[in-house]
Amino acid sequence: MFDLKGKVALVTGGSRGIGKAIALTLGQLGANIVINYSRNMDAAQKVAREIEKTGVKAAVFQGDVADPDQAKELVNRAVEKFGTVHILVNNAGITRDTLIMRMKDSDWQEVIDTNLSGVFNCTRAVTRIMMKQKWGRIINMSSVVGITGNAGQVNYCASKAGVIGLTKAAARELGSRGITVNAVAPGFIETDMTDVLPAEIRESMLGSIPVGRAGKPEDVAAAVAFLCSDAAAYITGQTINVDGGMVM
Ligand code: NAP
Repeated sequence: MFDLKGKVALVTGGSRGIGKAIALTLGQLGANIVINYSRNMDAAQKVAREIEKTGVKAAVFQGDVADPDQAKELVNRAVEKFGTVHILVNNAGITRDTLIMRMKDSDWQEVIDTNLSGVFNCTRAVTRIMMKQKWGRIINMSSVVGITGNAGQVNYCASKAGVIGLTKAAARELGSRGITVNAVAPGFIETDMTDVLPAEIRESMLGSIPVGRAGKPEDVAAAVAFLCSDAAAYITGQTINVDGGMVM
């Protein structure tokens, strides 16, 4: 599909779901992969072993992207291991869904800290490295609900809308240095995150998808792979929906 041989890709939240599919896909395209995770070490190591079977190298580093120091340390460790970072996929994300009137301060803060500040923390940590090498790809995971809004998710929708604004501002700042910054907005993708949704919500979501099925993590990974490639050098500041037509 695309050639990423010799590139180094850091995927936050690469241990499960969409991040795992992205890590595997970029590895299949020839990149060495740094898999970041927060809690699930076994899952992350399993992904690394799977990637290494394809002949590239993989490293696993724990780190909470919401913590600026840990994000910095994560990037430093990636550089120590592989010499640089060419591709950053800011994929790590969480939900704490509930109605506004019941939402705790911690529900709000944890989601903003992980989904939005986490993107800022990791992006800031790679910027100097990418500017120096005059090449970089930053792909930020947003969501279609960051565009449409969704009841019961003010924290999550605010974080994902924020990611789109951050993406556009960073794209303007970094474009002249050979660095593109884009967002991907998945719709309803089958992962642990959506596994917890009640059956009636799943049914109603499925009914709103023109292609007639839920998305797979690999559907999102394919769009990310394209945005990482040289073929996408003239695309920056954009949000690409991967949602089977759910939002248009
Ligand atoms: P998931 O299956 O719940 O996986 C989340 C990943 O993020 C895990 O690898 C987890 O690592 C990691 N993570 C969570 N908090 C972290 C932190 N503070 N620091 C570092 N890593 C952290 O989620 P997913 O469905 O694959 O979602 C991936 C991304 O796509 C998220 O940004 C999500 O908001 C977005 N998205 C998903 C959907 C969907 O339908 N699934 C739709 C739109 C957007 P541990 O397991 O080690 O904690």
